[in-house]
Amino acid sequence: MSTDLNSLRKDILRDLELNSVNSGVYSNGWVAKPSGKRVTSISPIDGRAIATVITGSKKDYERVVGRSEAAYEEWVALTPPQRGELIRLIGNELRIQKSKLGRIVSLETGKTKVEGEGEIQEMIDIADFAVGLSRQLHGLQMASERFEHRMYEQYLPLGVIGVITSFNFPSSVWSWNSFIAAVVGDTVIWKPSSKALLTAISVMKIITKVVKEYNYPEIFSLITGGGFEIGNLLSADPRVKLISFTGSVKSGRIVSETVARRFGKTILELGGNNGSIVTSKANIELSLKGVAFGALATAGQRCTTTRRLIVDEGIYNKFLPRLKDIYRKVKVGNPLEEGVLVGPLIDGDAVSNFLGAIERAKKEGGKVLVGGKAVKVKGLEGGFYVEPTIIEMPKVTPITCEETFAPILYVFKYRTLEEAIKIHNSVPQGLSSSIFTTDLREEERFLSALGSDCGLANVNTATAGAEIGGAFGGEKDTGGGRESGSDAWKNYTRRQTVTINWGKDIPLAQGVRFEV
Ligand code: NAD
Repeated sequence: MSTDLNSLRKDILRDLELNSVNSGVYSNGWVAKPSGKRVTSISPIDGRAIATVITGSKKDYERVVGRSEAAYEEWVALTPPQRGELIRLIGNELRIQKSKLGRIVSLETGKTKVEGEGEIQEMIDIADFAVGLSRQLHGLQMASERFEHRMYEQYLPLGVIGVITSFNFPSSVWSWNSFIAAVVGDTVIWKPSSKALLTAISVMKIITKVVKEYNYPEIFSLITGGGFEIGNLLSADPRVKLISFTGSVKSGRIVSETVARRFGKTILELGGNNGSIVTSKANIELSLKGVAFGALATAGQRCTTTRRLIVDEGIYNKFLPRLKDIYRKVKVGNPLEEGVLVGPLIDGDAVSNFLGAIERAKKEGGKVLVGGKAVKVKGLEGGFYVEPTIIEMPKVTPITCEETFAPILYVFKYRTLEEAIKIHNSVPQGLSSSIFTTDLREEERFLSALGSDCGLANVNTATAGAEIGGAFGGEKDTGGGRESGSDAWKNYTRRQTVTINWGKDIPLAQGVRFEV
């Protein structure tokens, strides 16, 4: 097994033109010797090094911002459909490179093969969306109270924006932001997670090759480095008009405060603690599949992972044994192997957090129904594997209000739907939610103002697995940001209200007279 992985590692490095030591800064070309720390990317599959990256420093950062500002001047002079054409060409190239890029995502973050490729498919999807959007950016026109006047709103680009991404969606989240921002006219500086540096470098290699080949301004830059160094430089910099931040609530709070201090804009996509309600009217087979996918996909490391299951007490004893059965049978191991559904956690700290959360849950009255331990996978002893875990909780407790980025599902029983919704809404986060029911009244109650308090509400489908067409994001501690589809593009612009007087006189609003 490990021999296979070693040859795969070599193939991936060759295919993506990665070296054993790589530059982690792109600014109108790869900076030959950035002056930051060296960081070695480790595969969570076997705990072994893949390659090393030289990250950026403050000096590199200054170069990146300066060049991004210069590229903006050129980029903004193009029409939105001309900008969309670049994204169309990038989308085409991503189609060609999908499986190569998918493999580095899997090797570096431990996603299964289909999930690794799914990540790149999401980039292609949002590229298509952005191309269409480039021909339909629009504003409202309002009736003016003044004679021979016209009023309308226009959405103008912001300038340079910063995109800080998390390890668990190491490339798609960047594209959600960057392709939309690009068609509205912004230039983008990317600071990826230090746990997924090679994915970011590979994506930039492919994308910037297209930019160069077709002679577009260098609108995409990359600067790797720690959150406290590079992330903080971006957050504090008034030249960077918007920070789109994806990550934990803890880091997001720091970013939010830093950007707010300079009155910059933010899009915050922070942690989730998502719940699914299964009612007595649910289709049991469908619900089991939905809950299992929501809770187990990406080894519980999605922002939208189902972390809490709220089941009607009338069906609890029928539903739980079936779910436990699925958990016992699900294959944990090398995510690149056929049939494996649960790969590793990202690193050793994540395994410690998983074990710590289980101990806390037990102290708070939880009973482990299945799983609960770290696992060693034969031939991959250095990898970071854990057992998918279900813990029955007597009530909402402090640990169930936290996001532990691992496959732990807390289960609660309920008597009335009102009680289920109360349990559901009792956590600080508000990203995704779902209800499994065939009852119209239950479904509508869940979707009403007194129902789910999350940014995403699903009926008869999992909390995880969103499409790009809708605006994505969550409420409360999840940060309130919206990105990807719908009208989220407006977040990458500044809105300007325009009043034009095309008459020969100058009438004033509210009937005010000012004769001079
Ligand atoms: P993280 O908060 O540790 O890191 C995210 C990014 O922020 C990294 O690039 C990191 O270097 C940077 N960073 C850290 N501290 C910073 C600071 N002080 N200033 C600026 N940047 C800083 O998160 P992670 O472990 O990489 O990702 C998992 C978290 O991300 C989970 O909480 C998950 O729910 C969340 N997430 C949310 C969404 C969403 O759309 N809501 C999507 C994916 C992941």
